[in-house]
Amino acid sequence: MEHAVALYIVPTPIGNLEDLTPRALEVLNQVSLIACEDTRHSGKLLKHFGVNTKTIAIHDHNERDRAAGVVEKLKNGGSIALISDAGTPLISDPGYHLVNYVREAGFDVIPLPGACAAITALSGSGLPSDRFSFEGFLPAKEKGRTDKLKALVDDPRTLIFYESPHRIIQSLQSMLNSFGADRQMVMARELTKTFETFLSGTVAEVLNNVESDSNQQRGEMVLMIHGAETAAQDALPAESIETLKILCTELPLKKAAALTAQIHGLKKNALYKHGLELGL
Ligand code: SAM
Repeated sequence: MEHAVALYIVPTPIGNLEDLTPRALEVLNQVSLIACEDTRHSGKLLKHFGVNTKTIAIHDHNERDRAAGVVEKLKNGGSIALISDAGTPLISDPGYHLVNYVREAGFDVIPLPGACAAITALSGSGLPSDRFSFEGFLPAKEKGRTDKLKALVDDPRTLIFYESPHRIIQSLQSMLNSFGADRQMVMARELTKTFETFLSGTVAEVLNNVESDSNQQRGEMVLMIHGAETAAQDALPAESIETLKILCTELPLKKAAALTAQIHGLKKNALYKHGLELGL
């Protein structure tokens, strides 16, 4: 298939090489240049798939400088693919400046769907996935980490963090200090690889598990924290939420909340607020 001249954003596997999509492979073969975070690292992947396309390095330190060269290439009719070391580019990886520069220069940016550790982890976690907040990596210093976590304590959404093995214990300790020992969480480790593990429990249980088993401190990990239980959620009986949901299929939320309040003898504001939180 002929491809449009564009910057293609191409996800690569986060472990299991079978996760490179046929479309990604086709694009990598057809473009005239592949911009990699690290050409040596990606060279192994490209060799494995028999891709011979020329590569250049675009990483955090030279992204702005290289953007002009990418646009020149597009002007000459050559397409470019952006890949990172693993997963989806721009998700805790370089590419943000390049995408903006290319769009501003009037060229298409075509993103391909594919592997991403955050989404893979969330989908298998058993935590609420209707609303979530991706928080990337926590700051390295204790103070910055705690400040960031404290600001998230009342957030009702599932919180997703990336973490590296050498900081996993400190981060879990900061989470325990900020969210308390009893908040539910899940640690997803080595996704799509041989030692893929999901550890679920309270923050205290997961910390204890990771501290006492050095295997749990190895590899790549995603930490997910259950969102804060809201006061409105605590106070509302399950039957009233069911009524609200049913009425909302036919009525605007405001009206549905008022009727539910009458039926169950509850406050309409609490139901309205809860309806908003559920996206009704
Ligand atoms: N762009 C990538 C993505 O789409 O997921 C993320 C890149 S970020 C630099 C690397 C972090 O992603 C790791 O420190 C870890 O938190 C997470 N990660 C990547 N691969 C993973 C895997 N196979 N299992 C668990 N976490 C992973």
